[in-house]
Amino acid sequence: MRTNKKTQVLVVGAGPVGLTAAISLQQRGIDFEILDKTSGPSEHSKACLLSPETLAFFDDMGLLKSVLARALAIKGIQLFKGTDCTAVFDLSTLPSAFPFIVSIPQGELEDVLVSCLKASKKKILWNHRVARINRSAGGVLVTIDKLGRHMTGYAVMHEEMLVDRTFGLEAKVVLAADGFHSLIRRLNKIPYEAVGDTMGSVVFECQREQNDDTMLTLGFSDLGASSHFPLPNHRSRYGFTMSQLEAVSADRDKSHEVYDEDLGNFSGLGDQELKELLASRMPYFAHRNLDIVWRAAVPFGIRLADQIWDNGIFLLGDSARSGFPLSAKSINHGIPEAGKVVEAVDGYLQTGDTNEIEIVAKSIRTEWEDLASLAYFSAGEGMKSSPENIDLNLVLQTLPLTGDDLTFAAHKLDTYFAKSAKVLKGRS
Ligand SMILES: Cc1cc2nc3c(=O)[nH]c(=O)nc-3n(C[C@H](O)[C@H](O)[C@H](O)COP(=O)(O)OP(=O)(O)OC[C@H]3O[C@@H](n4cnc5c(N)ncnc54)[C@H](O)[C@@H]3O)c2cc1C
Repeated sequence: MRTNKKTQVLVVGAGPVGLTAAISLQQRGIDFEILDKTSGPSEHSKACLLSPETLAFFDDMGLLKSVLARALAIKGIQLFKGTDCTAVFDLSTLPSAFPFIVSIPQGELEDVLVSCLKASKKKILWNHRVARINRSAGGVLVTIDKLGRHMTGYAVMHEEMLVDRTFGLEAKVVLAADGFHSLIRRLNKIPYEAVGDTMGSVVFECQREQNDDTMLTLGFSDLGASSHFPLPNHRSRYGFTMSQLEAVSADRDKSHEVYDEDLGNFSGLGDQELKELLASRMPYFAHRNLDIVWRAAVPFGIRLADQIWDNGIFLLGDSARSGFPLSAKSINHGIPEAGKVVEAVDGYLQTGDTNEIEIVAKSIRTEWEDLASLAYFSAGEGMKSSPENIDLNLVLQTLPLTGDDLTFAAHKLDTYFAKSAKVLKGRS
């Protein structure tokens, strides 16, 4: 193996967070490379809601127009308990420059970000997989496998990705945006423990019947949280948290497999199962005739890496922390954080002082710990659950909001349910 290249920053992983970091680096004129083990953007909707905070960040980056052109605006959220709609949250009241949420399939968002890098002539090294990392005098030496497509087999030919060549790349800083199963985190032996509930989620992307849904629906019952969001192009997503999953989709990373082909392994994710889930969890949608175009079963855990910055390596996005299913909190924290981290890295590259990076790493950890514990409605102060017995902390975990917007939503829900408690009391 030979070391044939040096760069200031290496971004590992071209998911939404790694791509955002790469664009921030590009905009600051920092020398960098970005690589991903797969051959292109994801083909699936996965995390498909962008919060007002993320929209404001994309606006600052000059990306908002391109994102909105492929997204659907969602103006309100309705909360259901069983069959009853117990609250409607008008997002236009949020204290934000962009008081709405948009839905955009994750693959489409990645496509927008890839096009932005392409427009500035930056190449992403697709089919490049990190194999090893070592510390070096100049920073971090990363061993990379370049993968190529090859036909193998004799009686039955099939295509496989094999290593064509291995080379080294030395970077002053590595931004490890390599997802939930981050190899870089594991190679560094950084623990990634649960700091909140662990559960699974099953998601169904469906062709939407002719209807003009523009509301996001969150349903709560003893069986768990459920969601429905309209997507652009007449599609929609139904999601259900599960206390346990019998089978999980093969790849928690960006999988290019069509999960439908795995249906043999996912007998629990057929048309009949969707019908049953809707009947038991979101009965108000049970009459819908849905054509499933993609489905997946994903294990989720609210997790946080013990160390986010480790001597030249910064864990970004899902490699640093992962969140509650359905709510898109991971992606909506990860995208703006990528901007903050790049700003701190810029300072470090100019001065050699890691202080700013350490402060950002600490603030990311603290924010995630607070979010995981969600003590907005702790016993003794405020309300823990609504008169309809909805656990308000669970509602906040499930809302695709972050930062000040989430705090605002917490106060609004508290006031709303406190008022309706009085009304109920008055009636009895
Ligand atoms: C099927 C599915 C459904 C989901 N649904 C939801 C949902 O409903 N709501 C929600 O909030 N979140 C959902 N998620 C999670 C969401 O996709 C992630 O939170 C989000 O993608 C995080 O972005 P990221 O950029 O940090 O990581 P990722 O998008 O995971 O990107 C990591 C990238 O790193 C690359 N990579 C990994 N290892 C290496 C290596 N060794 N070398 C080079 N490249 C590497 C991967 O190919 C990938 O492109 C879902 C995930 C899956 C898999």
